[in-house]
Amino acid sequence: MYIGHIGVALAAKRVRRSIGLLALLVATYIPDWVDAGLCLAGTYNRQGMLTHSIPAVLLLMLVGFAAYAAATRDWAGALIIAAVILSHIFLDWITGYKPTWPGGPMIGLGLYDHPIADFVVEAIVIVGGAVLYGRTLPPRRRPWLDVSIMAGALLALQLTIDIAHLLMKSLPKC
Ligand SMILES: [Zn+2]
Repeated sequence: MYIGHIGVALAAKRVRRSIGLLALLVATYIPDWVDAGLCLAGTYNRQGMLTHSIPAVLLLMLVGFAAYAAATRDWAGALIIAAVILSHIFLDWITGYKPTWPGGPMIGLGLYDHPIADFVVEAIVIVGGAVLYGRTLPPRRRPWLDVSIMAGALLALQLTIDIAHLLMKSLPKC
């Protein structure tokens, strides 16, 4: 999943407002951030065994939980950070194919092969997250206008990615 991950970060803000949006954005993309780091280091693995397999995600959840708890002493918040990290792999299973464990099968619905369906699923997560996030904003600042603009920008970004998928079939990730 691409932009849909932001929807989860926005929804989590509704669950616990004290968590900063930045921490949630880092958490929701952490397997992809690590992939980007591996790419820079020249050790990128296309299947994502080190970042998107079940043991890798569990490890990232543990690290995210510990880091957030150590920084804030907010244990409930740390649990939400871990849950947001877990959401990454569930969403990627819908849109892509990911490894389970070393030597295990690849699983996923592979919606990237159907960019229109991918856009619909990502749009549902983006809009759902934006609506929940909007409820965390003070009502008098006309938040619905801000939230609509934000959701529109995210949908436009996702649409661009899906059109690129239609044209190119597979996008280079590294
Ligand atoms: Zn991913």
